[in-house]
Amino acid sequence: MRELGIHLRVYSTLAHVAEYAHQLGISTFQAFGINQTTRKLISYDRDDCKNFVRVRRAHFGSLYIHASYWTNLSSVSKPNYKIIEHELHLAQRYEFTHIVIHPGHATGAIDRLEGIDALVRALNYLIKKYANIYFVLENTCHGIHAIGSDLQDFFLIKSKLDSPERVVFCLDTAHAFVYGYDFVSENAQKEFIQLLDQTMSLDRIALIHLNDSHYGHGLKKDRHEIPGNGQIGYSALNSFAMDPQLYRIPLIVEPPELPEQELISVKKMLDEWKI
Ligand SMILES: [Zn+2]
Repeated sequence: MRELGIHLRVYSTLAHVAEYAHQLGISTFQAFGINQTTRKLISYDRDDCKNFVRVRRAHFGSLYIHASYWTNLSSVSKPNYKIIEHELHLAQRYEFTHIVIHPGHATGAIDRLEGIDALVRALNYLIKKYANIYFVLENTCHGIHAIGSDLQDFFLIKSKLDSPERVVFCLDTAHAFVYGYDFVSENAQKEFIQLLDQTMSLDRIALIHLNDSHYGHGLKKDRHEIPGNGQIGYSALNSFAMDPQLYRIPLIVEPPELPEQELISVKKMLDEWKI
């Protein structure tokens, strides 16, 4: 069955999040390795980990930890892997299956190619060191020095990796839309899916972040909305989610911070995309 989930914020412990996700009735979830209340990285806690693993083994398959934005793997000036390595340690002990990463910005590089090379060096190093976890690169929506906003970057990244089988991709619909990709009309959607196949490859897309966008097409500004509450609209997102070429891919909605009652409505919306 297709995995359907929500990005959840951690206010106390990761075990609490896993229990809450199970209560909500979602089949997967994503979380930052950051406590939303303290704004600090979550550190390993033996009891919390034991409780988390018990719940995750009983109720979940794939689980996604989202790397923080404090790491920029495409920077050539000061590669610093300390935070992402902390997150990878945490992910492995808590048995997350995937780490979702924004490729970052080519800081200090002469051109974007140099940034892509820095990213590939970082991934080659981290993949060797951390087994049993997939690295998921997500498309972003920023300007010229950002890596992975232009989908063509993923084609290049794939061709340069030592172990390309460990790297898969996440397509965020809100990011693609505000970067300037159009998939609202039926024809545009067909062409967009073709482009996804030529760049990420459909069989390498491991996750869709099905988000609507607060900002309009091409504005390169990132603010998510629940499907139907933004500029893309429910109908385009629904047909994207249910496209026969994409319908096997797990879906995660990343809503803005919501009261519990509204999270329950998001869960009900997810049920529409069950297959
Ligand atoms: Zn996303």
